[in-house]
Amino acid sequence: MTDLSPSLTLNDIRAGADVLRGVADDTPLVPSPYLEAQFGQPFWLKLENMQPIGAFKLRGALNAVANLPDGTAGVTCCSTGNHGRGVAYAAAEKGMRAVVCMSELVPQAKVDGIRALGAEVRIVGRSQDDAFAESRRLVAEEGLVEISPFDDPFVIAGQGTIGLEIMERRPEIETLLVPLSGGGLAAGVALAAKALKPSVKVIGISMDRGAAMYESLRAGHPVEVAEYASLADSLGGGIGVENRLSYPMCRALLDDVILVTEEEIYRAMQTLYYEDRIVAEGGCVVGTAAVQAGKLTLTGPTATVITGRNLDMDVFTRIVSGRDVILGDVTIKGMPYGA
Ligand SMILES: *Cc1c(COP(=O)(O)O)cnc(C)c1O
Repeated sequence: MTDLSPSLTLNDIRAGADVLRGVADDTPLVPSPYLEAQFGQPFWLKLENMQPIGAFKLRGALNAVANLPDGTAGVTCCSTGNHGRGVAYAAAEKGMRAVVCMSELVPQAKVDGIRALGAEVRIVGRSQDDAFAESRRLVAEEGLVEISPFDDPFVIAGQGTIGLEIMERRPEIETLLVPLSGGGLAAGVALAAKALKPSVKVIGISMDRGAAMYESLRAGHPVEVAEYASLADSLGGGIGVENRLSYPMCRALLDDVILVTEEEIYRAMQTLYYEDRIVAEGGCVVGTAAVQAGKLTLTGPTATVITGRNLDMDVFTRIVSGRDVILGDVTIKGMPYGA
């Protein structure tokens, strides 16, 4: 059998850093005095919500598009929103056709953002798997090249540049809390950070319903999970039963995976807004949510990646004003901040 095991190294991530330089690199790494006071350890926020497309996925998308074979007709991807936006941006820079396939669970704000960048959007079915099937069809019938949101070496290397930037700026950091879905971000960040500092702990965090990587790591192989509406919509979707790279890398490199509830995400979005004045998606605050919920004890300087800001502002204003939020089959009861 062919060996498809990952062979990415720090050099691949450094090559990605060269591609991104001046476009999608060097986001702020800011302290959170509030979280430091609450939990007794320096706590840093890597502000990927400040990226041109409002999320870190631009890094992986730019690196993947830069490494396409000459003469590529166009690109396609399936996406919970932010990867599609990154691919749309990267393709537009090259004047290349981009078709983004998404499920009906993706918030309208994200669909609009992708169209605004000039990409075609296809809404298919109720799950990422349906979107994936459409993207496969475009590869077979229209000759487009598919860019996986997480299971692609150039995407993982691009996301890994975040780990490089954090550890080069603050080598004293001992723990990294990384939002976890398909695992491209966590795999790349963990590879870079551990290459620079082998003792650093990298912990993946997901929402507790439909956490595909968590369930796969428990099962010992990639498994399919049901999908649910979540405040952390960016963390939904499977990891692909034929996952080649992000699953084995997460298995090898993550020290732990922690799950948080919708209520914990709701509270963490409020905290980040009121204490740090940051507007962030539910998928970004899972790291601070885990700490606030007491699911994780900090033992040294810690950083988390605030991965994006592309949220539905109606949902966001409901949360910061403590009102109920209805998501698919669940209602998250309103909780005024500080109550
Ligand atoms: C994609 C995404 C993640 C998770 O990244 P993976 O590589 O799929 O694990 C986290 N936060 C946001 C905002 C995202 O768009």
